[in-house]
Amino acid sequence: MTYQGACHCGAVSFAVDDTPKWLTRCNCSACRRFGALWFHTHPVNFTLTAAKDATIAYVWGDKLLAFQSCRSCGCTTHFSPLEASGGMAVNMNMADPQSIKDIPIRHFDGADTWAFTD
Ligand SMILES: [Zn+2]
Repeated sequence: MTYQGACHCGAVSFAVDDTPKWLTRCNCSACRRFGALWFHTHPVNFTLTAAKDATIAYVWGDKLLAFQSCRSCGCTTHFSPLEASGGMAVNMNMADPQSIKDIPIRHFDGADTWAFTD
C-alpha cells in the first residue's frame, strides 16, 4: 500500500510504501506537542519530495532521531534516524483522513513506561 501526505502549505510532501498494522499516538514530551500520528516504517519505504532547505530538523535528548518539519508552515512531517540502523516514522496526520480511517490507532506511553497502554 502506498500512502501520500503533505504539510499544510505543500512545500513538503511524501509517499510511504508500506502497510501499517497500526498507527501510534505517543504521549512523550515531544510527540504530544507535535500531535503526531506515527506510522513506523523503514527509511527505504519513504520518499520525500521537498526542496533541500524546505525542512528544519529538531534534535533533542539522546540524539537518536531528528523531527523534521516544514520551514514555512511548521507541520512536523516525519522523524528520521540519526544512526544507520535506526527506524523512522511518518506523521499520518499529513495524509488524507480517508486513506487512514481503517487503520487501528495504538497508544504508546513514551512519557513513562515505554509500552503500549492498550
Ligand atoms: Zn509547509
